[in-house]
Amino acid sequence: MSMLTKRLLSLTLIILITLGSSSGCAPPLPAQKFRLLAFGTYIDVEVIGINQPRAEAARRQLQQDFDLMHHAWHAWEPGPLGYVNASIRDGVQRIAAPPSTLPLIKISQELARQSDYLFDPGIGQLVKLWDFHRGELTSRQPPELEAIDALLSQQPSICQLAVDGFHINSNNPAVQLDFGAIGKGYGVDQAILRLQEMGIDSAIVNAGGDLRAIGSRAGVPWRIAIRGPSGSGVLAWLPVSDNGAVFTSGDYERNFTWDGEFYHHIIDPRTGYPAEGAASVTVLHTDATTADAAATALFIAGPEDWPQIARQMGIDQVLLVDTEGQIHMTEKMQNQVKLRPLTKQPRIVSLPE
Ligand code: ADP
Ligand code: MG
Repeated sequence: MSMLTKRLLSLTLIILITLGSSSGCAPPLPAQKFRLLAFGTYIDVEVIGINQPRAEAARRQLQQDFDLMHHAWHAWEPGPLGYVNASIRDGVQRIAAPPSTLPLIKISQELARQSDYLFDPGIGQLVKLWDFHRGELTSRQPPELEAIDALLSQQPSICQLAVDGFHINSNNPAVQLDFGAIGKGYGVDQAILRLQEMGIDSAIVNAGGDLRAIGSRAGVPWRIAIRGPSGSGVLAWLPVSDNGAVFTSGDYERNFTWDGEFYHHIIDPRTGYPAEGAASVTVLHTDATTADAAATALFIAGPEDWPQIARQMGIDQVLLVDTEGQIHMTEKMQNQVKLRPLTKQPRIVSLPE
């Protein structure tokens, strides 16, 4: 065999091996995207590595799950939580609670305790007094100080409910449960669990900018945008791979102006008024339930006190923008986040021991 023939033969072999190895494994499946509606917001889901029929099955299952959760946890409409609230208000002291409400009540009690009751889903009456429970956001007169004080004097808090098996013991008719600050996080966690159960290990469930991601996008981390405090534009980018939930609470979500004053929907249970000091708080954590509750709690804690509450809640990746536009964040968040160019120097804060 001549030298040239040998060379040609080995070249053919290399080409065959290369072809063989690429035809031996199927081409990667494209990302599948679908949109759901729940908790008054669109939920965008992206799943990697499954075919279209499986993605369609996932879409149907998730929409069904979200419909159930939405129905079960609506505070102000007839339904399981509506039933619990009506019973508390009517002075029923031992309530046979619908099972769909119990896990969320229990987990909320624990997170509320960790947050020193800054996150407190037992203050539904306050939210209602401020009229933030309704869909429309028109300008209106804020509640009278006397009405707020009268409610605060009754000390409504989720800590006044005691779960006992399938019963809830209640002795304060001023308590009303509103899961607006945690339900979306819990729902996102349930959706991720459901996808994992269906054999999906790379996905993102994005509920209007609050989200949880698992796996990666074909080996590349998911790239998450953090909204700026005004609610528009991107303040920063956060890569999330493997498993991470990113939740933001901001004063831009629901608010109104009256007589030149700005009022938003995150209420400080200590004062009965919208919390002061923070414009937005973003939390990165392994589960969405905790991230959601913590974003609300740290927003209320404000620019001075959030590190203590973060430590108590087991949170170490936080970015808070105060009402002056100053960014405060943990070192661990600083190591991950990519701030928009020309952003003012952030204040790096260590959490207390
Ligand atoms: P977003 O609506 O942007 O997700 P949050 O997760 O912070 O924001 O939830 C805010 C909602 O939670 C309010 O609309 C209200 O229904 C409820 N809420 C307000 N203040 C509190 C509080 N201190 N603790 C628990 N829930 C609250
Ligand atoms: Mg929240």
